[in-house]
Amino acid sequence: MCGVFGAWSPSGRKVLEDVYLGLYALQHRGQESAGVAWINREGGISSRKGMGLVHLALDQATLAAEQTSCAIGHVRYSTAGGSEISNAQPLTASTSRASLAVAHNGNITNALGIKLLLQNRGAIFHSGTDTEVILHLMAHQPHKEPIDALIDSLVRLRGAWSLAMLVGQNLVAARDPWGFRPLVIGKRDDVYYVSSETCALNLVGASVVREVAPGEVVTFGPDGMDCLPLPVEVKRHFACSFEYVYFARPDSVIDGRSVYQVRKTLGKKLALRSPCPEADLVTGMPDSGTIASLGYAEESAAPYEQTVVRNRYVGRTFIEPTRRVRELGVRIKLNPITEVLTGRKVVVVDDSIVRGTTCQRMISMIRDCGASQVHVRISSPPVRFPCYYGIDTPSRGELAAARMNLTQLGTEVGADSLAYLTEEDLVESIGLPRECICTACFSGNYMEGGEENEPEL
Ligand code: AMP
Ligand code: SF4
Repeated sequence: MCGVFGAWSPSGRKVLEDVYLGLYALQHRGQESAGVAWINREGGISSRKGMGLVHLALDQATLAAEQTSCAIGHVRYSTAGGSEISNAQPLTASTSRASLAVAHNGNITNALGIKLLLQNRGAIFHSGTDTEVILHLMAHQPHKEPIDALIDSLVRLRGAWSLAMLVGQNLVAARDPWGFRPLVIGKRDDVYYVSSETCALNLVGASVVREVAPGEVVTFGPDGMDCLPLPVEVKRHFACSFEYVYFARPDSVIDGRSVYQVRKTLGKKLALRSPCPEADLVTGMPDSGTIASLGYAEESAAPYEQTVVRNRYVGRTFIEPTRRVRELGVRIKLNPITEVLTGRKVVVVDDSIVRGTTCQRMISMIRDCGASQVHVRISSPPVRFPCYYGIDTPSRGELAAARMNLTQLGTEVGADSLAYLTEEDLVESIGLPRECICTACFSGNYMEGGEENEPEL
């Protein structure tokens, strides 16, 4: 996963506090580490990184005082490389031509092959991340202008990469040609921003200019703003549907679609496709199913009720590393309201079932409170395949919907009935053309060559 943010002021305004605030708004995209890098007074690159949440990893006051008009930042949830400080981003390096810093959201699927090739040519890697290959590829082209070396490096990458970078004196935003992860440009007064999501632009008071287009490199620097297309032909785009289903913040807008509206539509379509006429009430898994459950209730005879209270101070369960901690995490996090549930027939809406632990735990909690029936409705198709493009999903063997058929899964989680949304309904709810949306974790239809590690150097 991860979130990236960047800011550039041509008039020399200080921007590092805005980057800090941007990361704060993107905290949901990664809680393992946070970092910033900026162009310092000497024209080189400085950085600060730390483990944990943004406010623990970084010191706001120090950053706010820093005199820099060009900076980037990153929040990390590891999909490649362990959770340790050497893997925290932005990664920084100096080539013979320029100082570099890179903040990456996504997963470069051919990184391993590239790494092996470069190691055979003498490159020494300092982190376990796929991101580092970008810096090495650039360093291996000392004869080129840094931006040309960057473009030449990016065309060799497969998979997902939405980047905020510092290259010499420039802020650079770049998005892979398939457009897996979001990346948007914003502006406030003379300051330009790049961000994984619009919610972070809202926080710094910037308005949305436009998305970085798939396969586009946008540079901001002494020569102003410049937009360069990558010389790569693509057959189709792969905007991640799971961003709308679960990952992005609901107050963000991706590709012109409000995440909130899409989530509500998912719930409405689910109610039409898989109604539950006997239900007394509709409720959502807090907080991941709440918006879809509002949509579901709107299309059913039963009203929406809040049935479980979430302790706001406990992190999202999927961040926890072990099964034991995950199970405890759910119990620590959620407390049901017995008075609403006793003797009632309940529809519980959630966005997805991954390993199945959360759903099982929730249903048994609701039953313990005296609910007479519990019907589960999931506002996306079954997750049956791993994601190779930057969302951390377990291997196929651990995915509950890959291990069992629907009836078995319903029994496993303890539901009276279980139903999912169809892929068709998901695509319709997002409202982008079918050929622009990735649904690989539901359908298994990966980008051509998406899982391979074949380097093309
Ligand atoms: P579980 O089925 O217990 O693994 O957890 C599923 C819950 O975690 C759902 O409520 C989702 O909201 C959330 N979730 C979504 N994506 C993921 C993911 N990639 N890995 C783990 N949990 C996720
Ligand atoms: Fe998103 Fe699933 Fe595609 Fe990964 S496989 S990019 S999670 S839709």
